[in-house]
Amino acid sequence: DDLVRHLADGRRGERLRHGVHVALLGPPNAGKSTVLNMIAGREAAIVSATEGTTRDIVEVHLDLGGVPVILADTAGLRDADDEVEVKGVARARSRAAEVDLKVVILDRLSWPSVPAAVRTVMDGNCLLVVNKIDLAPFDAATVGPDGVAVLPLSAKTGEGMETLLDHLAAAARSLADTSAGPLLTRSRHRSALEEAKAALDRALIHWDLEGPEVTAEDLRLAITTIGRITGRVDVEDLLDVIFADFCIGK
Ligand code: GDP
Repeated sequence: DDLVRHLADGRRGERLRHGVHVALLGPPNAGKSTVLNMIAGREAAIVSATEGTTRDIVEVHLDLGGVPVILADTAGLRDADDEVEVKGVARARSRAAEVDLKVVILDRLSWPSVPAAVRTVMDGNCLLVVNKIDLAPFDAATVGPDGVAVLPLSAKTGEGMETLLDHLAAAARSLADTSAGPLLTRSRHRSALEEAKAALDRALIHWDLEGPEVTAEDLRLAITTIGRITGRVDVEDLLDVIFADFCIGK
């Protein structure tokens, strides 16, 4: 039961080690690249008034409230004709399906309409941002589809940026929450625990079907795999890990 509890941690430990994945999504020209650049503090993505400029995914690594975050700018979601743009949109969609958090950015001038291509990626796991509020007044009490909270923003003037960053940091902290005790921060540890659990499951079955000798072998295997986490490993195992994790020259 303890192993199962550790394995069901929602990969929070791995997020803390490798970063919480966040994607900026939305229609072309809503300001996704501008928002990414503003948060990153540098020109990582190309900003252009021409729609469909961002084709590939641009990533920046950030520290938000002490949590590592990998923020990705994606191609604008629409039914594209151009072959390269079609590929970009497909990449944006598959990234949307993988990330820990989606930030959907819409243009104030087309609000409250949400294009169908954007609506399909929206679920309970997203922050909704209405950008370019410098172009037209915006009522702060506005809510989005299904009562989702809306964060007003002007990536041009910076208004609303602090609030957006606060929301992002809070979401990142809860996705990588460390308060629940020791976390599995490495996939190697996770697979060792999965192996140990499988060996213990087999031991329970073998106890009834085969008797103590076979069961003892399952238990020995479970102990050895846990030993790979706690440090009781032999030299060969250690060398495998070193060569797998580091590149060592002559
Ligand atoms: P993307 O296609 O969603 O990545 O959009 P971009 O970041 O390339 O921005 C599209 C256009 O909108 C550019 O001309 C930006 O300068 C402009 N833009 C972005 N954010 C704002 C904003 O908050 N206010 C105004 N007025 N223009 C903006």
